[in-house]
Amino acid sequence: MSPTTPSFTLSALDDCVEALVNLDVCILPTETVYGLACSALSEVAVQKVFKLKGRPSTNPLIVHVLSHDSAEEICQTNNMSKILTDHFWPGPLTLVLPKKSCIPHAVSAGLSSVAVRSPSHPVFRRVLEIIKIPLAAPSANLSNKLSTTTLKDAIDAFGSECPPIIDGGNCELGIESTVLDLTTLTPSILRNGPISQKQIENILDLKINDCSHLSNGSDKLLRKSPGQGLKHYSPNTPLFLHSSFQSMITSQIIQEDEIVIFPKVNCDSSEIKNSFNFFLSTDGGYKETAKNLYRTLRAADKLNKNKIHISLYSIQNESFLPINDRLNRASYKRV
Ligand code: AMP
Ligand code: MG
Repeated sequence: MSPTTPSFTLSALDDCVEALVNLDVCILPTETVYGLACSALSEVAVQKVFKLKGRPSTNPLIVHVLSHDSAEEICQTNNMSKILTDHFWPGPLTLVLPKKSCIPHAVSAGLSSVAVRSPSHPVFRRVLEIIKIPLAAPSANLSNKLSTTTLKDAIDAFGSECPPIIDGGNCELGIESTVLDLTTLTPSILRNGPISQKQIENILDLKINDCSHLSNGSDKLLRKSPGQGLKHYSPNTPLFLHSSFQSMITSQIIQEDEIVIFPKVNCDSSEIKNSFNFFLSTDGGYKETAKNLYRTLRAADKLNKNKIHISLYSIQNESFLPINDRLNRASYKRV
């Protein structure tokens, strides 16, 4: 994955390192979304992250490290984790493995496992090299709200409470990492992300499970991965999710003062008579769509209209699976 060119100032880097050393929090860019980081070895620091995000203590955090060797200090690695990390790290693959005792209870929300990943963003890696300890870093947004993928949105998410932050540009991938549970005999995907089930199966030469779909609010996935709640990633404006682009443009329910988010520019929108349009991409491709998803939803949300309309992507194209997953969780209503 190509890293974003860092454009941070040295003083921002110093401020963030100082915050981390003082068991405080800071915001760092990753290649997926901006992260609210703190020492993963300190219960005190971790509690500050939960408090600032308003995150329920039942939702465990992902710990960020430089390499598989540094992951070994916090969890029990195995052959599969070695094969996968040789291939996908640094990058957007989070592995759930049995945790070691140096990881405080709060990080893993009382589970016996810990989620670990190695970000590729040069700014985050630079901070890990300087600080030399693993960093817990959930997405830098208020709990259950839209993730942030630009410096401005991350600052905006916390307002006057915003901790020190480093500008790492716009996050290249724009969608949270794939989460893969390696604590069971057959690995299972707990959260869809930029690395697909097929890519993982090809590397392991093994069929794996996809447990990322919720059937209702209290099912198996929530016990395995408590952060995967049905309602998530939500704008404040009710998001109306149409089953396809075609059904959205022929829908009779869109009013003139409501917002429509189109998959790409130059879509045929002649049947919709609304005034507030946003576009997720120029060409409808996955990469650009994912990169623009959260910032477009945030920009639309800022207009404070009654409704935002958006449509799901065809499941024919598997790469759009994580985008559909986020839209399903973010939506107020399926239409
Ligand atoms: P976020 O921090 O917002 O990127 O969300 C972290 C995701 O990782 C949530 O879906 C958590 O449920 C999941 N996660 C973190 N730690 C674990 C763990 N030990 N076991 C299973 N899922 C985890
Ligand atoms: Mg999050």
